[in-house]
Amino acid sequence: MNSPLYGRMMQMPLLISSLLTHAARHAADTEIVSRRVEGDIHRSNWARVEQRARRLAQALRRLGCESGDRVGTLAWNTDRHLEIYYATSGSQLVCHTINPRLFPQQIAWIANDAADEVLCFDLNLLPLVEQLAPQLPQVRHFVLMTDRAHMPTQSALPGLLCYEELLAAEDGHYAWPVFDEQCASSLCYTSGTTGHPKGALYSHRSTVLHAYAAALPDAMACSASDVVLPAVPMFHVNAWGLPYTAALVGCKLVLPGPKLDGASLYELFESEKVTFSAGVPTLWMGLMEHVRSQSLEFSTFRRTVIGGSACPPALMRALEEYGVHVIHAWGMTEMSPLGSLARLQPKHAALPAAEKHRLLEKQGKAIYGVDIDVVNDAHEPLPWDGEHAGHLVARGPWVIERYWNEDDSPLVDVKGRGAWFPTGDVATMDPDGFMQITDRSKDVIKSGGEWISSIELECIAMAHPAVKEAAVVAATHPTWDERPLLLVQLKAGASVTREALLSFYKGRIAHWQTPDDVVFVDELPHTATGKLSKLTLRAKYKDWLVRKG
Ligand code: ADP
Repeated sequence: MNSPLYGRMMQMPLLISSLLTHAARHAADTEIVSRRVEGDIHRSNWARVEQRARRLAQALRRLGCESGDRVGTLAWNTDRHLEIYYATSGSQLVCHTINPRLFPQQIAWIANDAADEVLCFDLNLLPLVEQLAPQLPQVRHFVLMTDRAHMPTQSALPGLLCYEELLAAEDGHYAWPVFDEQCASSLCYTSGTTGHPKGALYSHRSTVLHAYAAALPDAMACSASDVVLPAVPMFHVNAWGLPYTAALVGCKLVLPGPKLDGASLYELFESEKVTFSAGVPTLWMGLMEHVRSQSLEFSTFRRTVIGGSACPPALMRALEEYGVHVIHAWGMTEMSPLGSLARLQPKHAALPAAEKHRLLEKQGKAIYGVDIDVVNDAHEPLPWDGEHAGHLVARGPWVIERYWNEDDSPLVDVKGRGAWFPTGDVATMDPDGFMQITDRSKDVIKSGGEWISSIELECIAMAHPAVKEAAVVAATHPTWDERPLLLVQLKAGASVTREALLSFYKGRIAHWQTPDDVVFVDELPHTATGKLSKLTLRAKYKDWLVRKG
């Protein structure tokens, strides 16, 4: 104990409950505002959330949950979902968020793979859960996240429990247990675009460290003065950690419930004076369409993190015109999710605006806690010259080591530098460490031995005033193996010819990288997390050029 080898500081594990108790003690009356599924705007605060989370922890134990058990949620961003986050993790259970937008069979597969003991779900998802229940033999209790007044008079679910009744039956005299910070805290599945979804099981330590890093000024820059609206769902990588970061800084949280359309979001941004938000690009496209068409302005909204897929530069400019600074970020489920954010360094201050934009359009610099690198097929590091595109690898205390229920480690050995997680993304690194994703490895277009970035081609198309959304996929070609095919959805009432769109690429990209053809579509398909579904598009259009001859 007296060894000079060891520091003499308190041994306090990094536990998720400490985030909540901190917020409840030091930001007690700071509001948590939710648009609930029942339709009302509900006002709570950190102290109340903590008291109610204690009651819920008691209730879950009374239902027979034991340390390490998984509690599934099928729920939107609301205060009750926040209470479940903290009640489960805080009492050494595992919060398993499931995306309700997945196909029902996928939801059942995921809940069974996780062996969820309890399933908590929102009122509007009752029909879905009733339909799924026969496929969920291991779920012992179904909890409807509502009050008695909204409980159905009859349900196909045996012994359906009412969330508010569960809480009302407890006294709240519960002390958050202290345990090893390496214990599991929550479980999120990747969307499984290839094969079955895989579970990333986070720990208390990884979650708390991630929450600290996310709050830093060169990351999301969250402070107690912010009003944060996580537009990214709480079932999508824990809303990118915002429910934890908000508690850590003790700020006001605005939870938009199931309504993520432009009009509903805008209303909350204004009525609750939101300063900061985060979400995937498609969501912001919807919001900007609404703001433009109604000639609105943002009075307090100043900053947003956009990630999950590449943010089109045209969208960044559009938000900036309305006074909102876009922080482009990259991450993934396996990384809790934050890996990098685009923030300028002091030496960039004097750069012309176009140069600054070019840097801010990249996926940015690694935040402390994560290290990233690009490697070739033999796992040898590539130069950081902004040119060499290679496999992006990452490591750090909130990066996955092994998937849930899988024995084999996905990690690869990078020559001379130990084990790293292969992200499946292809990227370049510049001399300052700015990383730019050129593609997911399965989306890269391999044309005559050269790689063409589908993301770059999409961003150019989306800068055309007639284009609402664009996707570029690899189409089989008899001579070049693969060639880029552009699929576009035009803005309502807009028109442009195939030739005009293709000539829009002139001077913006090497001639040989220009797409071979354009297909105009009514709508582009999206995944359950709001990303372009390239898998669907590839399946449908792979043979387009061959068929056309
Ligand atoms: P899923 O693969 O299940 O959709 P994730 O949300 O974890 O789940 O997706 C992670 C992937 O999303 C990354 O590997 C990367 O391909 C893509 N991605 C995330 N952020 C960005 C970004 N800013 N630019 C380009 N791609 C991104």
